Amino acid sequence: MNKMKAAVLKQFHQDLCIEEIPVPSPKRGEVLVKVRASGLCGTDLHIQNGRLATVKTPYVPGHETAGEVWELGEGVTGFEIGDPVIVAIDILCNTCRFCTTGRGNLCTRLVRLGFERNGGHEEFMTAPAENLFKFSRKVPFEKAAVIPDAVACMYHAIKNKGQVRASDKICILGVGGLGFQGIQIARHFGAEIFCTSRKDQKLEIARQFGADHTINTDRENLFERIRELTIGEMCDVVFDNIGTDFSIQAGLDICRPGGKVVMVGYEEESFHAGYQSTAMKEKEIIGIRGSNRRDLVETIRLVEKGILDPYIFKTYPLDEINRAMADLRSGKSLGRTVLLI
Ligand SMILES: [Zn+2]
Ligand SMILES: [Zn+2]
Repeated sequence: MNKMKAAVLKQFHQDLCIEEIPVPSPKRGEVLVKVRASGLCGTDLHIQNGRLATVKTPYVPGHETAGEVWELGEGVTGFEIGDPVIVAIDILCNTCRFCTTGRGNLCTRLVRLGFERNGGHEEFMTAPAENLFKFSRKVPFEKAAVIPDAVACMYHAIKNKGQVRASDKICILGVGGLGFQGIQIARHFGAEIFCTSRKDQKLEIARQFGADHTINTDRENLFERIRELTIGEMCDVVFDNIGTDFSIQAGLDICRPGGKVVMVGYEEESFHAGYQSTAMKEKEIIGIRGSNRRDLVETIRLVEKGILDPYIFKTYPLDEINRAMADLRSGKSLGRTVLLI
C-alpha cells in the first residue's frame, strides 16, 4: 500500500507526530486530493488543547486546504486530474432545514474535514466531490488554502451578518490572521475601517491593507479614540476577533445605538452584557460560524480578480508543524501561517 506523510494528533495536549500512514482511497462520490498547502488556525490550538468535544484522537487536523485533484472516486464527474481545488470544511447532509435553505453552516448533521474527519495536514486527503471548488492557477496554493476559513468566514461576517455597506464605520477588534482579510473585504463594500491591536506591527500591516484608522489599545483609550474619530457617532458594526468577556463589552461600548457586535473570535466560555447599555440602545450581539457555499464561491472569485489578496504571514514545511503551532500560540505569528506540503 502507498504511504504518505501526515501530521497526526495522537493525544490532546501533545505535539503532533509526523508519521507515515497509508494514502486513503476515495470512496464513491469522493476525490483524492494531493494537498499542496494547509493553513493553520487558532482553532488548531483549541483542538490540540482538547476544547472541541466532537474531535476524537488520533486523527489528522487541518481545515484550510488547497491542492490538486489526484484521483476520482466512483461516480465523480466535473473534475480533471490536476485541477487546482480548495476544500470546503463542512460536509453537509443536504436534507436538513438549514441545508435546504442555504444555511448549511448550521447543518444539524454537520461533519467537518479537519475536525471529525481527517483534514489537510497530510500529503493526500479524501473529500466529497461537492466540497471541492476549482480556482484559477493564477492564485498561489498558500493563498487559496486560507480562503475556506480565514477569508470566507470574514466575508460571511461582514457581508451577511454585519451587512456592511458604503459609508458604514466598522471596527475590527484584535486585527490579525482573519482581520487582515476582513479589512480588504470591508473596503470592497466601501466601509470606513478602524482596527485595534496591542502590537504596532499588526497595525502597520492593517494600514497597508487599507485600514483608515488604527488604535493601539495598550497605549490608547479605545472608547475615547473612537468617539473622537467618529465625532461621537461611534461604529455601525464591530467585529470582535478576540472573543473575551472584555472584548465583547468593549465592542458594545464603541458601537452606536442600534449597532451590531459580530462575534468572530472565541477565547473564553461566556460573557456579560449590560441591560441598560445594550437592550435599551437596541444593540445586537450576533454569533457567526464559518460560511456558506455561496460565500466561498464569491470569495474565490474576488481573490481571482485581485480584489482580495489573502495575507499570509509565513509558510512552514509540514515537518515543522510543531514550531508553527508554537509560534501561533506565543503570538509570534502576526497573521495567517500555512504549511507547504
Ligand atoms: Zn479555522
Ligand atoms: Zn444539513
